[in-house]
Amino acid sequence: MKLKKSLGQNFLKDSFYLDKIISSSQIDTTQNVIEIGPGDGALTNLILHNSKSLTAYEIDNRFSEFLKERFSKTNFQVVNKDFLTVDLNDVISGQIIMGNLPYNVSSQIILKIIEANLDYKHCIFLIQKELANRFVVGPKSSKISIQSQVFCDIEALFDIPPEAFDPAPKVNSAVIKITPHNKYESYFSKYENLKKILAICFANPRKKISSALKNFDMDMAKFSFDLNSRPEELEITDFFEILIHYEGQI
Ligand code: SAM
Repeated sequence: MKLKKSLGQNFLKDSFYLDKIISSSQIDTTQNVIEIGPGDGALTNLILHNSKSLTAYEIDNRFSEFLKERFSKTNFQVVNKDFLTVDLNDVISGQIIMGNLPYNVSSQIILKIIEANLDYKHCIFLIQKELANRFVVGPKSSKISIQSQVFCDIEALFDIPPEAFDPAPKVNSAVIKITPHNKYESYFSKYENLKKILAICFANPRKKISSALKNFDMDMAKFSFDLNSRPEELEITDFFEILIHYEGQI
């Protein structure tokens, strides 16, 4: 079957890493699992052996037909759909979500799940390492690391080299774990305003935060953080401070 680069079809072939993903996923035979982008089913096969049931979302109907046939005798269903168009209210409740995500839409898929703020157990995703670094909280903040922290913790578990895939991608990959939390529940309803603030603050991440804050016409003396800091040097609580002042004046 001719693989489609546009759909990020780089298949993980190395059984060492496939097993490592399964052992880090904490799935067991009582769990209903969701898989995004099963492709030819290497990970799917292992998930099915270690879980109660599996629902997979695959955009490419050549693979969804192949998988229907391959796993016809198991507790498996495949939905031939773009995951970005799926109504998550119909699919997620207490489930573990897994996938070797297509690189071109990984961040959209992750943000869709995180922002829906639904009742999932955790996610185990294989994504481009560079994107993983932006999601995981590190010494430098990014727009998506702050957005994600509102709803969940994201940790990097391990890296996977290009040779483990066929065809090999040009970049390194990493497995991340996403665990939802309610730590910042009081900010959930303010999330749209927080996103507006982050978009403006991170438009020029290397300029001082004072320069971005000029867009909001705020009393700068009110802030507890150093106004000479770059946006990437601020933490989520600093952005909450900006948000509270912003909401106080609209
Ligand atoms: N899970 C397989 C593996 O680990 O080898 C394949 C992973 S491959 C990186 C990504 C898969 O996601 C491909 O099978 C591709 O067709 C599918 N895909 C791409 N975009 C998608 C989307 N928006 N919704 C659902 N599946 C998608």
